[in-house]
Amino acid sequence: MLQITEIPVPGYESVRRGIDKDRGLHAIIAVHSTILGPALGGMRLWPYRSEEEALYDVLRLSKGMTYKAACAGLNLGGGKSVVIADPAHKCKELFQAVGEFVDSFGGKYTTAEDVNTNTEDMEIVSSRTRYVAGLKGRSGNPSPYTAHGCFVGLKATLEEVFGSSDLQGKTVAIEGGAGSVAGYYAELIVQAGGKVILADIKDKEVRARAHKLGGSVVPPSEVFKQACDVYAPCALGGTLNAETIPQLRCKAVTGAANNQLREPADGERLRARGILYAPDYVVNAGGLINVSGEVGQSYDEKRSLAMMDKIYVNLKEIYAIAKKDGIPTSAAADRFAERRLDAARAAVKAKASA
Ligand code: NAD
Repeated sequence: MLQITEIPVPGYESVRRGIDKDRGLHAIIAVHSTILGPALGGMRLWPYRSEEEALYDVLRLSKGMTYKAACAGLNLGGGKSVVIADPAHKCKELFQAVGEFVDSFGGKYTTAEDVNTNTEDMEIVSSRTRYVAGLKGRSGNPSPYTAHGCFVGLKATLEEVFGSSDLQGKTVAIEGGAGSVAGYYAELIVQAGGKVILADIKDKEVRARAHKLGGSVVPPSEVFKQACDVYAPCALGGTLNAETIPQLRCKAVTGAANNQLREPADGERLRARGILYAPDYVVNAGGLINVSGEVGQSYDEKRSLAMMDKIYVNLKEIYAIAKKDGIPTSAAADRFAERRLDAARAAVKAKASA
């Protein structure tokens, strides 16, 4: 039987633990904020070593979703789910149970695919709740759209650094080069005349991709040290930190991974080195923008792609705030998002007291 318990966390609207021993479920869903609308965020399945580790991840990720939606101009809140499991043990019963867990939020949280979950898994989830997006025949796989958004962000970043968004003669070092988003991103870069350096722990896959794209391969431990124009973290978070930042040999960072900075101080470390950082939740919003197109409306790819152009405009504004106020771009992005969140909070307050 599914047992749901509330975990009180200050600053979060609702954090719940869902356990169903018979169906192998141990999950946490966090709704950070619904001030802009119902929360939308993916379901990550990962063999976390402890519930504490899973909680840390879901809290950080769900807050990131609030800021991502706010920056992208979407009327959506921030939420996320994490399932503590080995991807090798995925099964129908597990996703049915997690579907019931999602349903317990009554529409306050809508889920979608994320790391180690896919559209087939979401089909099973949808047998137990209607609050699931990213289904087949609708917006589908978010990765090509996330890559498209990153590419739009890359152009804004190149223009800021080099005065032109032209990819000719530019080199991008991509971490997680065998991955899903990285594959589409690398293709767009190469099609536009750029060069790619790829690194991944999946050696065979990354070599095949580099061969296809005319790129080169370096070991995962070397990718951030490459002499290049742009370093693109597209694997896991936390790769920009006190140890890696002093060794970077790029002019800018523009990648898809969530939570690229290990700690807020890393934003200042990048600024001090004169490296322009495209804040992760601004630049990787393409997948969210795309999937939001099927929430409460019928999906239209053209409309979603047009909305992704806003990533360019938003980044330019964030770079301008950073320059004017002499702050890191990561802090400028937070300010940009908080402006919209504060306005929404004020509107709710005014309505309540009217
Ligand atoms: P993916 O699992 O397809 O790709 C990740 C790749 O990183 C894999 O090939 C993996 O082998 C590689 N990798 C893992 N550890 C590594 C390491 N230490 N060094 C080098 N490579 C390593 O995932 P994805 O869907 O492409 O997502 C990539 C990143 O982008 C994740 O951080 C994800 O949270 C973020 N993101 C993805 C989307 C999306 O639409 N898929 C949207 C927003 C953010």
